[in-house]
Amino acid sequence: MSELAPSVMETEAVSILRDLIRIDTTNNGTPETVGEAEAAEYVAASLGDMGYSCERFETAPRREGVLLTIEGTDPEADVLLLHGHLDVVPADPADWTVAPFEAEVVDGMVWGRGAVDMKDTDATIIAVLREWARSGVKPRRTIAVAFTPDEEAGGRLGAHWLVDNRPEFFRGATQAVGEVGGFSVSLNDKRVYLIQTAERGIAWMRLLARGRAGHGSLTNDDNAITELARAVARIGEHTFELELTPTTQRLVREVAAMLGESGSLEDQVVAVSTALGPLIEASMRSSANPTVLRAGYKHNVIPERAEALIDGRYLPGHEAKFIAEIARLAGEKVEVHLEHGDVAIEADFDVPLVARMTEALRTEDPGAITLPYMVPAGTDAKAFSRLGIAGYGFAPLRLPADLNFAAMFHGVDERVPIDALRFGVRVMDTFLRSA
Ligand SMILES: [Zn+2]
Repeated sequence: MSELAPSVMETEAVSILRDLIRIDTTNNGTPETVGEAEAAEYVAASLGDMGYSCERFETAPRREGVLLTIEGTDPEADVLLLHGHLDVVPADPADWTVAPFEAEVVDGMVWGRGAVDMKDTDATIIAVLREWARSGVKPRRTIAVAFTPDEEAGGRLGAHWLVDNRPEFFRGATQAVGEVGGFSVSLNDKRVYLIQTAERGIAWMRLLARGRAGHGSLTNDDNAITELARAVARIGEHTFELELTPTTQRLVREVAAMLGESGSLEDQVVAVSTALGPLIEASMRSSANPTVLRAGYKHNVIPERAEALIDGRYLPGHEAKFIAEIARLAGEKVEVHLEHGDVAIEADFDVPLVARMTEALRTEDPGAITLPYMVPAGTDAKAFSRLGIAGYGFAPLRLPADLNFAAMFHGVDERVPIDALRFGVRVMDTFLRSA
């Protein structure tokens, strides 16, 4: 338990996390994204030192990741895929309390870009595997481990590349364990650990309005900017219908009961969203936010075209309905072009894998409650779903009730409590042995 002195495994997880944060793997989505190669070298060396045979793979110049396979003791069992990304989103040091790539320890927490997304989990995996090598542990299931580049830019040079180019690595894998799940939220003196079982789909769209170009002083009833602005306002102001999938139905039902909210479904949803925050609120509807506008080049010239970018996210099973709704909102005169898309996914919560997660959590936190939730954004699990692999987010952390954990992801002053990390390492060790 946490009162005891930390084990070698726990101490190593903290030092590996700090090493990984100091390797700047900022993913700009441009050729300047270069740090992943150094991180891959570090990961391969950390595991290679313990006798693991790792393969570094390169998807583009300086875009690297690491693959390895750990043979399980049960030859009948399906392979489990365990994955973590090595890249991080940019951090502007001017906004931060500490330098974002120095991994300082302040107030019992490791601070830095990647502290929760997701170098903490990468470090956890490495520390557990190093411990297994020291003590001769073999897991029940064969575990295929992938450390990927490019998750933060959609995985075209990471997870999607692996699925397209190295499908044999995933042979026999039916389930994957990755990020954005397994962290605790405090509800009425109880700790609920949210296991990620679903992700909304991605539809990044470009709206294009065409009109009649002309002098800004003359009457013009076919102004592309006016037409585009109407469409952008309609989409931006639209509230998509509240729709629960199996994941969010279960979450709402059980959390509403814990909160003593027995009113209408709408009342329950409001209570649950208020208690659990914006991450959960956004998982119960599709959404479309205008994010970029482009039009015009001179104050007295009406341009021939105007464009807007829309960040669209849709619920599992709702892609066609969502696309139709956007087309209706855009109107007949505005074209909608899909620039980038990725699937929505949803996995079953009532499976032995989740039971193993719950058991592992309860060895460290006996009152732990687990519930499924849907992440409103996406992870590499989308790419692996193309191979029929069901994705789960489980990166266990027991968090203090007052930490705004959702704000840590891509946020300023990203940080992870060391106690939470040590807890996570112990749970992950127990879970992976029996998974
Ligand atoms: Zn992430």
